[in-house]
Amino acid sequence: MDTEAFLTASYARIRARAAVTPGTSVPTLPTAAQLTQARASLPGRGEEATALAQGRGPAATVGHLVDDIAPALAGHNRSGRYFGFVTGSCLPIAEAADNLVSALDQNVQVHLPGQSAATDVEDAALRLLIRLLRLDEDPAITWEGRTFTTGATASNILGLACGREAVVAARLPAGSPSVGELGLLGACAAAGVRSIEVLTSLGHSSLAKAAAVVGVGRASVRELPRSAAEPWGLDLEGVEAALAAGAAAGVAAVIAVSAGEVNTGRFATRGGADMRRLRALADRYRAWVHVDGAFGIFARALPDTPEFAALRAAAGGLELADSITVDGHKLLNVPYDTGIFFTRKSATLHAVFQNPNAAYLAAPSDTAAIPSPLNIGIENSRRFRALPAYAVLVSEGAAGVGAMLARGVRAARGIAAAVLRDLAADYELLPAAADDGDDDARVAATHVVVLLRARDPGLNADLAARVQAGAEWYASATRWAGAPACRVAVASWRVDPVADVALVRDGLARIAREWRAEKDAAAAGN
Ligand SMILES: *Cc1c(COP(=O)(O)O)cnc(C)c1O
Repeated sequence: MDTEAFLTASYARIRARAAVTPGTSVPTLPTAAQLTQARASLPGRGEEATALAQGRGPAATVGHLVDDIAPALAGHNRSGRYFGFVTGSCLPIAEAADNLVSALDQNVQVHLPGQSAATDVEDAALRLLIRLLRLDEDPAITWEGRTFTTGATASNILGLACGREAVVAARLPAGSPSVGELGLLGACAAAGVRSIEVLTSLGHSSLAKAAAVVGVGRASVRELPRSAAEPWGLDLEGVEAALAAGAAAGVAAVIAVSAGEVNTGRFATRGGADMRRLRALADRYRAWVHVDGAFGIFARALPDTPEFAALRAAAGGLELADSITVDGHKLLNVPYDTGIFFTRKSATLHAVFQNPNAAYLAAPSDTAAIPSPLNIGIENSRRFRALPAYAVLVSEGAAGVGAMLARGVRAARGIAAAVLRDLAADYELLPAAADDGDDDARVAATHVVVLLRARDPGLNADLAARVQAGAEWYASATRWAGAPACRVAVASWRVDPVADVALVRDGLARIAREWRAEKDAAAAGN
């Protein structure tokens, strides 16, 4: 078969396997039999040499991928009811763009304006995102440090790497080389910095991982919760006290703002006033403000209507940060793996990520408006992952993206309201009311994550497992306030804010009924 015929036939087989018939719903998880078949079809341990001895050829291999492996993969791109983790789907236009990326296999490494427009597309996508997220509302604030990453974890690594660079450099004698040049140990010795603290509230686990990667250390991440009832909220007094104590003790700081927190979707700051206060503190104490806005920052792109005013306000002021993490593969619904990173100055990124002395990698235009990606991020060679994001932004525009985000919020709020109003006998909405106010206020505080638990501890212990077992919809198991909890995160463009809310409500009600019947049967049997 010739190349074109092979590819056309292969895409047709892939589409036949991945298609979703309108009006039908697809299981969120593979069956046990499909998983078994897929595993049995792989080369077993010890069979590697046999498997490699003779290639099966492309046609048979496509059959193996489509018929054995594909059925054993999770359904989060084909189902709007996969509410696990914060796993987005992939918009059709993004999937089409991603196929183009593979078809033309670009390596977006060096800005070579005479040879490829890829870096220009990447830059355009980043500029569109800055506008979408309204990070440019203050003309004094620019984001010339910007790049695509593999996800929020990588963006958090960039954020802490830039923060480390800046807070230590601010304490080095004038004219010193960068921290990237000197290394953290040498630079800290020269700057009189004893340690670098990361001050946060319910920072995502990847923040601690990033702290380890950049040499700051997981143990340097300090939780400063506003209160026991609102552990996601950042205690600004506590931040000020930590900065003041640190200043006297040779401790530099990065303030990491969770926007929002992964279990509750709540924001560490309460809007512009909190962010202005953090900005002033950071300026006074030469600290760095990093916002982990993986999914929460998309609250800023919701429609400007009363329905979303509280969320937009809660995400206010985030543009006052020094650096920002954004996930693409979550709420933007572009394929894995896509993250975005913004910082004010591209010089900070260059100080960390510059490739020195590699003449063949130098672009004549590295001083121009578009830097070579390889000098501002982790990878040298990398995928053209900007194209699907660019395609979504061009295709949908701010209104289309806003409408998609609004559907997700409405679905999450519908589920939160159902838990409060229809399911209250068996389930409890988390976080517990605290100073959230009445039910309406709690529903209005819901972004895309709904945290809940069953009132009966026995049911609660395996609630997520019971949800997952049906494969009709999916929720994650997590823990909240020392007990198991169930997290429903709406992140797919496919979600139906009416039908899917009803499905979750009815599903939770049935699980509670079945649990009571099992308990009654067990009691009768005794
Ligand atoms: C998901 C998430 C991360 C990690 O993102 P990846 O894209 O999985 O690397 C980091 N921070 C927050 C707040 C998140 O929600």
